[in-house]
Amino acid sequence: MQDAPLGGLAGPIPQAAETQQQSPQVIVVGAGISGLTSAWFLQQQGYEVLVLEASACVGGNLQTVQHNGCQFERGPNSFMNNRQAMADLIKGAGLQPHLVPANASAHKRFVAKHGDLLALPSNPKEGFTTRVLSWPGKLRVALEPFIGKGSKEETVAEFVQRRLGKEMFDWLIDPFVSGVYAGDPHKLSVRAATARIYALEKNHGSLIRGALAKMKEKRQLKAHNPDAAKLDGAMMTFKGGLHQLMTHLADQLLNPVQLDTQVESVSYSADTGYMVRSGDQLWQTDKLVLAVPAKQVARLMEDLPTPDEASMVAAQEALRSIHYPAVATISMAFKKHQISHPLDGFGALFPSREHLQTLGALFPSSIFPNRAADDEHLLTVFIGGARAGDAMQLSTQQRLQHVLQDLQPYLGIKGQPLWSEESYWPAAIPQYELGHLHKVALVDGALAHLPGLYLRSNWRDGVALGDCVEQAQMMAQRLAAADQGGALHG
Ligand SMILES: Cc1cc2nc3c(=O)[nH]c(=O)nc-3n(C[C@H](O)[C@H](O)[C@H](O)COP(=O)(O)OP(=O)(O)OC[C@H]3O[C@@H](n4cnc5c(N)ncnc54)[C@H](O)[C@@H]3O)c2cc1C
Repeated sequence: MQDAPLGGLAGPIPQAAETQQQSPQVIVVGAGISGLTSAWFLQQQGYEVLVLEASACVGGNLQTVQHNGCQFERGPNSFMNNRQAMADLIKGAGLQPHLVPANASAHKRFVAKHGDLLALPSNPKEGFTTRVLSWPGKLRVALEPFIGKGSKEETVAEFVQRRLGKEMFDWLIDPFVSGVYAGDPHKLSVRAATARIYALEKNHGSLIRGALAKMKEKRQLKAHNPDAAKLDGAMMTFKGGLHQLMTHLADQLLNPVQLDTQVESVSYSADTGYMVRSGDQLWQTDKLVLAVPAKQVARLMEDLPTPDEASMVAAQEALRSIHYPAVATISMAFKKHQISHPLDGFGALFPSREHLQTLGALFPSSIFPNRAADDEHLLTVFIGGARAGDAMQLSTQQRLQHVLQDLQPYLGIKGQPLWSEESYWPAAIPQYELGHLHKVALVDGALAHLPGLYLRSNWRDGVALGDCVEQAQMMAQRLAAADQGGALHG
């Protein structure tokens, strides 16, 4: 970036009890993956950035724990190697030597059906022979290219049942949605929550035709671009777990992340730019990135000026209405002889049709090396989400017993775990329900008059770690382009 205008330092602010802080060019609020990667990419563009974080450590949802010789994740477990932005970040930050790809056997995934665990088909040949779908179910999938396009905004359930049939929905898509969103496919918007799948219908008229066209495109791209060939879709982490990415990026920021700093209000005027307040501390900046959950954004919008009060209120209501259900992740270790299933894969998903509250189980000691002692299995189990019954009202101990009872018939567990640790996420993952894109448009519309304000977080543009990183890179590029004369808003 050249000649980026210096943000702030517009003189003292006449409020006695407050301490005016040295003002950076860009302030990023929130040090989750959205905020930290935004800050890192902005610094790469030449900006001086300060990150303000409410909690005592960086990383947001990314929390790696060392416990009794095991290493486990409280939140996300891995990311998919399918985004150039993530590859750029890892390379640029010098993290390549710390990358750990999943073991080859971890490409196998299981789905529960009628009390048994079945391997999901991983290629068309296995698609013919799989027991996950019956022959009529498979034939219904084969009819997909002949199904017309939908005409209204559909839920994931409506879209998949229309295109691929009920069996495919019940045994593959419903558990997949639980696994990614902890969500209810009868509420999630196909356009918002599974945008890439929706785009296959929109652009190719069929998911199967679209997937084949994408495979061809990818092959051609790989033939001409060696970097694209490296994006092989494998699941990845780092030697020190996902939190290593966060601490490593924070260490590379020239301004240390300011922890224990809950931003309480943000105001704006054309003369002073943005005034960002936490307790008695006040910062001034021309460029502000809010990388915080939707309800926090609604709160921080309260003091922002608006030419249209009604649209501001509607945007705040839209943000507050984004549902974040509670999820608990329970990590636990067993001696190998306590589990009869070989756990030879990534993990298992539990469709709603199995009538369990457990959403799924990962097998981290099978996915990545050095996650547990050689004679132990490490499991991470997810419970709750949009389809939780009463499980989230139970005590931690009761929830553990509930999960063990759910898993027992599928995994053949004997006895109690050697240890277990629950992480309770009261507001886990934002649900992109019907109307979500309209909500995002309301927010963007209400803030469009404010220059230099950018919103980055998993409540918009995707919840996967790769989405957050890709969007952070794009935002940093847009911000720099706007400074160089473009007229783009965040
Ligand atoms: C249990 C679980 C499992 C998951 N598994 C996976 C997975 O395996 N793979 C995958 O790709 N994705 C997974 N996800 C999704 C992914 O982890 C999230 O979408 C992503 O981490 C969100 O990052 P973020 O920075 O947008 O938000 P957050 O991580 O929520 O970060 C927001 C940050 O802002 C801070 N903050 C909030 N308000 C303020 C304020 N007023 N002032 C200052 N700071 C503030 C918070 O303290 C927090 O640090 C999972 C999520 C959960 C919860």
